[in-house]
Amino acid sequence: MIKLDNIHKSYTTGATSLHVLKGISAEIKTGEMVSIMGSSGSGKSTLLNILGILDGYDNGSYLLNDIPVKNMSEKKAAWFRNNYLGFVFQSFNLISYKNAMENVALPLYYQKVSRKKRNHMAMEYLDKVGLREWAHHLPSELSGGQKQRIAIARSIISKPKVIFADEPTGALDSTTSYEVMDILKDINKEGITIVIVTHENDIADMTDRIIRLKDGVIV
Ligand code: ADP
Ligand code: MG
Repeated sequence: MIKLDNIHKSYTTGATSLHVLKGISAEIKTGEMVSIMGSSGSGKSTLLNILGILDGYDNGSYLLNDIPVKNMSEKKAAWFRNNYLGFVFQSFNLISYKNAMENVALPLYYQKVSRKKRNHMAMEYLDKVGLREWAHHLPSELSGGQKQRIAIARSIISKPKVIFADEPTGALDSTTSYEVMDILKDINKEGITIVIVTHENDIADMTDRIIRLKDGVIV
């Protein structure tokens, strides 16, 4: 499903260039639940953003479902992001003035699904993450763990094949972190491939396989 071969990425600011990824080769198979581990600044988010086609890379090849991502048209990249990939972030990224149901329904709004249908589906997905009764609450009325469950429901409502989660438990205490990991595991059991970035050993240990990043390479 995901095949990286010798990926390089540098950030250039003014006259200085920072070589962050120095030849990453890896393969992630359909249905796997994988973590990408590494200390802060090791390039985990950089790698995840490349995997999610949110950012480009300088050299190497990335095949997503056998399709080369380099030089992919913006239209095709957007199609992948909207229909094939799901995203979960440490900071939840919920819209503060929309309630839980509306936040979960948002991807369907962009797919031009009718309000009635998308709200109905959002309720179904809220149910999946155990938050049906919280549908009409705003994010500010929810705990961190609840917000992340809303974000997960939002990420799966468009039925993606892969979820990319960047430090999904980074803002949560350990009990809540495990609850969120349990939900991600359930989603994985339904066949969705999951890639989680974390710097926490116990979180990485809950995945099937750990990819360790150090000094820009996989160790
Ligand atoms: P991690 O997620 O493992 O903490 P990142 O991928 O965010 O690491 O960052 C890796 C390195 O690249 C860090 O030194 C960071 O400061 C740098 N970096 C990240 N994004 C940018 C950017 N947009 N411009 C310049 N440097 C960046
Ligand atoms: Mg990061």
